[in-house]
Amino acid sequence: MKFAIEEIWIDEDAEGERLTGEILARLPRAKVFVGDRFLVRSRNLGLEPDPFRQGKRILKLVKHRGAFVKPCPGTPAYVCCGLEILHIGQGCPMDCRYCALQVYLNRPVLEVLVNTEDLFAALRAHLDAHSGRMHRICTGEFADSLALDPLTGLARELVVLFANRTDASLEIKTKTDFVDSLLDVDPRGRVVLSFSVNSAPVTRSDELRAAPLERRLAAARRAAAAGYRLGFHFDPIIPLPGWEDAYRETVDAIYRAVDPDSVAWISLGVLRFVPQLKEIAEDRFGPIRYYHDSFLQGLDGKSRLPVDVRISVYRQLAESIRRHSPNARIYLCMESPQVWMESLGLAIHADEDLASYLDAAIT
Ligand code: SF4
Repeated sequence: MKFAIEEIWIDEDAEGERLTGEILARLPRAKVFVGDRFLVRSRNLGLEPDPFRQGKRILKLVKHRGAFVKPCPGTPAYVCCGLEILHIGQGCPMDCRYCALQVYLNRPVLEVLVNTEDLFAALRAHLDAHSGRMHRICTGEFADSLALDPLTGLARELVVLFANRTDASLEIKTKTDFVDSLLDVDPRGRVVLSFSVNSAPVTRSDELRAAPLERRLAAARRAAAAGYRLGFHFDPIIPLPGWEDAYRETVDAIYRAVDPDSVAWISLGVLRFVPQLKEIAEDRFGPIRYYHDSFLQGLDGKSRLPVDVRISVYRQLAESIRRHSPNARIYLCMESPQVWMESLGLAIHADEDLASYLDAAIT
């Protein structure tokens, strides 16, 4: 286990769950607390100099009572890909300086949902109730899909389920290289193991505690050899001076590591953020040079670079990718039809267009 967990807080009703026992056995040195005193701990955490950093050492085990599967929260102003999110917990032991969780999580600890029998029952029921359409499901809206997998073992169980479905695919998205527990399961073409990647300078300076790029790519290579489709997400692309060469080198490194045919899709998303993030991140990390005055407010209320800058970035990255793989399935995250056309030359006008474009990579 790579990430240090110092405290485990267990909700009373989560104490008897099988996964709770397994996690406790895997973390024998952590202090364990059961019951409702977490509210006090949470208040005290808020008084510490950097609650967000300290919260990454605190694990909370809970039983989830709400919906396990929900649509990815897009916005009508941009084209969305129709992904559904399977809720497995929230929080992340890594600490990227640009991470939106710094704004979204009001309780900055790591939370794992331990009632996995309920999770699997809800997932099966969801797929069965909406059969007749393809589901693309991803784990972790407010979490990395694999960061806590050495503790939970959940990803392997999910791969087994999806390998036996013809109406759904699973995307596991990570900045770790924790893939080895999945390699002896045949995903039967239904699972995309995706790696968030960035330029080497951004990876080094901004993705604290994430696996170095070369380790992510080595993990991608092992996953492809085991039969997994691969995804790569360039998100957030941060166009600092020299970005053209830096991102081209990452593209080259990807195609040195893996065969173009093993790649299901590659997404591109230029840095965008809710305005509060700048203040919170700079409070934690000091001045960050990419939060500057050129950002404008986008249709979703987020700060975005001007559209001509974004188009130019997407064009150049797409060119680098297509040099290695002319038919690469490249897509944009939360952009307008105009940006799609001008940067990729693709007519993607509506959510359904994008959904079919991505579904074709799996079916
Ligand atoms: S890996 Fe993802 S979820 Fe984790 S800190 Fe980085 S951006 Fe946030």
